[in-house]
Amino acid sequence: MLYYNIKNPKEIVSLEEAVFNGVSEDGGLYMPQSIVRLPQAFVRNMGHMSLQEIAYAIANFAFQGDIDADVLHDMVYETLDFDIPLRHIDDNHYVLELFQGPTMAFKDVGARFMARMLRYYRSLRHEWPTIHVLVPTSGDTGAAVANGFVGVPGVHIHVLYPHESLSYVQEAQFATLGDNVTALEVNGSFDDCKRLVAKAFVDSELNEALHMTSATSINVGRILPQTFYYFYAIARLARLGVDVSEVVFSVPSANLGNLTSGLMARAMGLPVKRFVSVENENNIFYNYIKTGYFIAKPSMPSIAPALDAGNPTNMPRVMELLGNYSEIRRMIHAYTYNDEMIIDTIRDTDRRHGYLLDPHSAFAWQGLCDDLRPGEVGVSLATAHPAKFSTTVEHATGREIPMPPQLLHYLKGTRRVTPINNGYTSFKRYLLQFA
Ligand SMILES: *Cc1c(COP(=O)(O)O)cnc(C)c1O
Repeated sequence: MLYYNIKNPKEIVSLEEAVFNGVSEDGGLYMPQSIVRLPQAFVRNMGHMSLQEIAYAIANFAFQGDIDADVLHDMVYETLDFDIPLRHIDDNHYVLELFQGPTMAFKDVGARFMARMLRYYRSLRHEWPTIHVLVPTSGDTGAAVANGFVGVPGVHIHVLYPHESLSYVQEAQFATLGDNVTALEVNGSFDDCKRLVAKAFVDSELNEALHMTSATSINVGRILPQTFYYFYAIARLARLGVDVSEVVFSVPSANLGNLTSGLMARAMGLPVKRFVSVENENNIFYNYIKTGYFIAKPSMPSIAPALDAGNPTNMPRVMELLGNYSEIRRMIHAYTYNDEMIIDTIRDTDRRHGYLLDPHSAFAWQGLCDDLRPGEVGVSLATAHPAKFSTTVEHATGREIPMPPQLLHYLKGTRRVTPINNGYTSFKRYLLQFA
């Protein structure tokens, strides 16, 4: 299948180029030229299939002709070497726990699959320039991408993060990996990190010297594998005898990557009644739904740092998938909450259901509770393990949250950090060492 650049639809590339480039030279995002609709028989019968079987079947449909079936099989089974539990919380409310990967956040799924795609494409070529993946992070993205790509030959990961604003475990999750992962501690803000990376991508001198790409959700290699778990959730509900034509998914949104994957799954034939997109006070998409105007703003910090996005990068894909404003409003209901409301949500959900939500997942849960109508079935996406944000969760619930061994093991490693200032010249000088 071929991919086009949303900004310039005449520019058509292969899947390999789309993943390799991340974004087009003009900054446009890639989209599949036609979205494969899965046979309805598959969708009807997937209730009996495992997560891996469903993911493999979808990958085969979506990447037909692009990647060999055998290779896809390994990619899927290596990426998803864990299950994704669907928890029944009460009557018609479910939580899909997407945080089962190595960094215990949902981005592991997309990052691991994309890493395997690059490894495969490298194996096909005689010559391969080292690919430099530039990842600005406020916490979770850097960890997921670094863990997905560590040890992949021919790829170097540069994680840029703001000085003194990540927790110790968050930093340890990428700064202790070593090998092909460099932790760049920027003396500045998260917005500075994003600015440095955006500038590097359009710097022609750098582009001649190095091959750079992005592994944030602007890369289709991350968006496509995230469709798998939407199918799996519906399959699980079908097995429970739930009427799947009534399912509403609620997503905690920042750059709208997860939501885009859900919309794509729907375009592939998954029955979804509607989506709920929930933001913190960085509520750009919420304001768009309310007013029709998309106005980016500088981001503000919150108790759910992965939601602190002031310019949701996947907006062009949402528009492309739904076509127009009234269809977007019909298919997606948007909510916004402040930190205090979400602390109450975490406390209430623990008291009433004995279920612990991390702050990001709590945003989605609250939106679902406020949006769901009688007769509908809601699936709230839980994107991070509560122990990743234990300070907030402990404060809200008064419970002590033990650190899972999966996260604890990062603390034992040696941190290696390269400090840089927030000026572009020093970042460029740093990158040119690799030329
Ligand atoms: C990245 C992230 C989100 C937001 O996902 P988008 O695809 O950017 O909308 C939500 N929760 C957690 C824990 C994340 O890491």
